[in-house]
Amino acid sequence: GRRAAPPEREVASICPYCGVGCQVGFRVRENRIEEVVGRDGPSNQGRLCVKGRFGFGYLTHPDRLTRPLIRIEGAAKDPADCLNPHAARGKFREASWEEALDHAAAGLARIRDAGGSDALAGFGSAKGSNEEAYLFQKLVRTGFGTNNVDHCTRLCHAASVAALLEGIGSGAVTAPFTAARDAEVIIVIGARPTENHPVAATYLKDAAARGATLITMDPRGSALDRHAAEVVRFAAGRDVAVLNAMLHTVIAEELYDRQYVAAHTEDFATIRDHVAAYTPEAMAPIAGVSAGQLRRVAHLYARARSAMILWGMGISQSTHGTDNTRCLIALALLCGQVGRPGTGLHPLRGQNNVQGASDAGLIPMMFPDYRRTGDDTARAHLERLWNARLDPRPGLTVVEIMHAAERGDICGMYVMGENPAMSDPDVNHARAALARLGHLVVQDLFLTETAALADVVLPASAWPEKDGSVTNTNRQVQLGRAAVPPPEGVRQDLAIIVELARRLGLPWSYTHPRDVFPEMAEATPSLANITWERLEREGSITYPCAGPDQPGREIVFGDRFPTASGRARFVPAGLADPAEMPDAQYPFVLTTGRQLEHWHTGTMTRRAGPLDSLEPGPTAALAPAELARLGLSPGDRVRLATRRGAIELAARSDPTLPDGLVFVPFAFREAAANLLTNPQLDPWGKIPEFKFCAVRVERV
Ligand code: SF4
Repeated sequence: GRRAAPPEREVASICPYCGVGCQVGFRVRENRIEEVVGRDGPSNQGRLCVKGRFGFGYLTHPDRLTRPLIRIEGAAKDPADCLNPHAARGKFREASWEEALDHAAAGLARIRDAGGSDALAGFGSAKGSNEEAYLFQKLVRTGFGTNNVDHCTRLCHAASVAALLEGIGSGAVTAPFTAARDAEVIIVIGARPTENHPVAATYLKDAAARGATLITMDPRGSALDRHAAEVVRFAAGRDVAVLNAMLHTVIAEELYDRQYVAAHTEDFATIRDHVAAYTPEAMAPIAGVSAGQLRRVAHLYARARSAMILWGMGISQSTHGTDNTRCLIALALLCGQVGRPGTGLHPLRGQNNVQGASDAGLIPMMFPDYRRTGDDTARAHLERLWNARLDPRPGLTVVEIMHAAERGDICGMYVMGENPAMSDPDVNHARAALARLGHLVVQDLFLTETAALADVVLPASAWPEKDGSVTNTNRQVQLGRAAVPPPEGVRQDLAIIVELARRLGLPWSYTHPRDVFPEMAEATPSLANITWERLEREGSITYPCAGPDQPGREIVFGDRFPTASGRARFVPAGLADPAEMPDAQYPFVLTTGRQLEHWHTGTMTRRAGPLDSLEPGPTAALAPAELARLGLSPGDRVRLATRRGAIELAARSDPTLPDGLVFVPFAFREAAANLLTNPQLDPWGKIPEFKFCAVRVERV
């Protein structure tokens, strides 16, 4: 056949999917991306996974919104529209940008002026740039006048961040995943990096191949197990039992690093006394792991010269997520496994920019750089910088905002690049709450399930269409560059935020992310010595960065922790059941998550041909023996029911699952996993229990 013409140009940017932050080259011809290749970035060295390489078809999908939409007067908001947003298209009319922006801002201003600032809320995006996240939270705080601003970190690593801030004074990783090259032992717990952080997984496999002892710990098996020296398959929801038994072993058998504990920590006696009763023998039947294996992995970790812990949603998406993380932090502190090459605590961040969006202040209880809203010094600094009065009270979190909307306490929202009508737990409530809002403005690429309930829909620009910085799981701030223009009629997200801000009375004149970066860096001391010009030159700089010619520090806290005393704290965690245990009526446990091919609520990947053809529909995965017991074959229709809802989908056989556990990905609207999930929150991180609820499985 004929050879395809070569691309006209290759634009250096970042993958728009996960927090690994792979550097990509978008190969462009006639203003279309034809191919994506891996570049030599610090987190990928040329590697890409299937999403990064083949997941760009959504850019030119015919569903792409190119004109603003306004709800037709009298067109009812029906939560059922979330089942088929295309059908809801008839409830909207196209509008000019001027009319749509005027209408969007007027509705928000009306609610602010009549009902007070706290009647408004905003969900920003972890899929946009740092500069967009910064401006979004500044708009909500200074234009709306409330701290009711959050984003998907609340559904992701909020519990990890709560525990890390409390324990070591910083919510980010202490070392990049590439530090695995120097690790003697690596624990991966509650994470499936081969599916969710595939390029990070390659570094872990490389480490195992060169001789590191890899320990995988999870109720489910994963492809990483093949590379592991120890595979700890524990009972779902019993992380604290497993980890406290390890802590007990390390202390009782005097395996801990006395010198490190004395020099760098406080409250050792509290943790020592607390875990005294958690013997491996006592925990083994609860954890579903033998006492021998609990002891063995504790020995491996504690005796290693260098050891890392990496974790994911299995740890954090739980009503005990903060407690689970407290145990991991305690383990690392006890054994002095922080701050040296090959050591570290690494919560694998999900979205491409969830680290950066959190750093930029898209969090209701914290301003940029995790400074609490009640911190008078931080507030005074930002009031001067922003020329505005700021509320010292923390705002509401994602799920709390939905509850407030359901009660009628929140009446207006601005949602940019988030899809709570799919991603919230017990999503029927979120859908009803969104439908109840007096005014909902949604900015997105498509008419999402959330946009189907909007008053105004503003077409968004996609990542490969814009410039901006993003921060990956390794704390590497990297520059994304526009490879193609947005479709005709679509505006840049940053410009849309600015236009709304102006209409809400803010005198903003930012026209490009480079105009925003210096102010954002001033509001975010962690970004010291990182400038837009440096990013343009160097592409990637890690924070913290000690000087204008330094690359940034990969491994932190070798000398002191960023706490008042300079020491880290042990915080004990007690054993408690998940919020909803299986019973005779709902005898299985449901766990939810992602698949390699699909990203979150599927908005982008289900519109990317190669990915969608690999995983075209929703499935409920069960262990082969469970399928047989239920008289089911793969492909048979099953009905899953919980106390909150029911869905029907195809059964799938998955030998990585233990008996009694059902896995459903949450990317599929036609069988939305979150119709089933439990909205109960972790008390500290306010994260819902997506990984555990009681479910019934029936043949249809
Ligand atoms: Fe993109 Fe993550 Fe895959 Fe890298 S590992 S290509 S960042 S989805």
